[in-house]
Amino acid sequence: MIFDKMISIFSDDTICALATAPGGAMATIRVSGNRAVEITDSLFRTPSGKRVADMLPYTAIHGEIFDADEATVDDVMVLLFRAPHSYTGEDVAEITCHGSRYIINRILSRLIQQGCRQANPGEYTMRAFLNGKMDLCQAEAVADLIASSNAATHNMAMSQLRGNFTQRLRQLRDRLLHITSLIELELDFSEHDVEFANRSQLLSLANEIHGHIERLVNSFNTGVAIRQGIPVAIIGKTNVGKSTLLNRLVHDDKAIVSDIHGTTRDTIEDVTQIHGLTFRFIDTAGIRNTSDTVEQIGIQRAYQKLEEASIVIWITDTVPNMEEVDDILKRTERKRLIAVVNKIDRQEPPYDPLIGMGQGRGIPIVNISAKHGINMEELEEVIFKAADIPDVQQNDVVVTNVRHYEALSHALNDIIRVEDALHADISADLLSEDLRACIQHLAEIVGGEITTEETLQNIFSKFCVGK
Ligand code: GDP
Repeated sequence: MIFDKMISIFSDDTICALATAPGGAMATIRVSGNRAVEITDSLFRTPSGKRVADMLPYTAIHGEIFDADEATVDDVMVLLFRAPHSYTGEDVAEITCHGSRYIINRILSRLIQQGCRQANPGEYTMRAFLNGKMDLCQAEAVADLIASSNAATHNMAMSQLRGNFTQRLRQLRDRLLHITSLIELELDFSEHDVEFANRSQLLSLANEIHGHIERLVNSFNTGVAIRQGIPVAIIGKTNVGKSTLLNRLVHDDKAIVSDIHGTTRDTIEDVTQIHGLTFRFIDTAGIRNTSDTVEQIGIQRAYQKLEEASIVIWITDTVPNMEEVDDILKRTERKRLIAVVNKIDRQEPPYDPLIGMGQGRGIPIVNISAKHGINMEELEEVIFKAADIPDVQQNDVVVTNVRHYEALSHALNDIIRVEDALHADISADLLSEDLRACIQHLAEIVGGEITTEETLQNIFSKFCVGK
């Protein structure tokens, strides 16, 4: 078996861990490995005397976990899966108990006393990979699924988990192998000076593969924007209502966002969801409390922050002078700009200079009152449109992972070299080298015999314990 070496590195102990989030009414502890049934039976009893070992797979049994002194720890349900038909591909017993920290710890320490080892982060999923239950990019999708925080991230992870990405890579591999076989046939007969593979036919096959890989590489921008949130900066002079607007935009969602282990988002930020997409507001706190005398410095700082944003909301509450408007336009040339006129509850919006501003670049202008919540839905709609993110469905393949992006970028360079070589009519042996490199780079994504221990540890250490 190709993973023999890794299995010897990653032990085949029977492992246990809490699989559910702490704090709920119920909790599930997962036991996986050769001795899962035997160990569970050693601390579990039923009134009828039935053992877990007697159970049919996929059935549940009610009983109790008892302590070393025979006292009952908790009333539980045990659900049994038998190898290879389980998540890990091993025997698995899932013990569902009451959600008390004390009970969970007692059961875990009893399992450890009886011969289990506490699972490492991601160890269940790593075993699933090592036992051929899923490939590497599907395993990574599990972590993404757990961390998904909106419809788009959920759809991307689901698609990857279901194997759509794997399928796409397999199709590319088949096409590359087809070209390789044509060329290698030619190599075998090289002394006869025959050309089996028509060069222009090969070139069009290579172009096609190039197109597919390039589309995947390009989808990474969308993937990152969806996963990390689309960066938005709110800029404008002091007291125009930036903080009030930010608070109103993020108000309802703040509680939903949490720092989930395994996500790329490290800190809790000002984020909001609009139509299932996450928008991340870049902190321009530096100018929030700036007094009028240092206003210019504050604005400078906001401009620096602006570099990180792909959408800029420029907010004003008075008639801006043309100089200010020109300055904003110049600095946001490569951004999607939205002009917001705030405090319309107090006055008529200052139309004229702004209408001029919107012309040419098609900059939307939205009149709002951040304080009174007037026209906020319209503003959200405009922000959503500015994001210009395609609607991700559950079958779409969007690259979200840096590891995949890097492998695809290498594969793209390989296929470009193949195309160049075909153009230049370079000999078949050089062509096949680049083709093999391209196949190899695509294979790294799904993993296999070439996957190093370091890569695996890197991937699975980002998981939570219990998955
Ligand atoms: P910032 O300095 O740009 O962040 O501005 P703030 O959000 O701190 O707001 C400055 C002042 O304007 C505060 O007193 C807000 O209550 C007020 N303000 C914000 N939005 C509105 C609005 O829509 N209407 C009115 N009348 N006042 C507002």
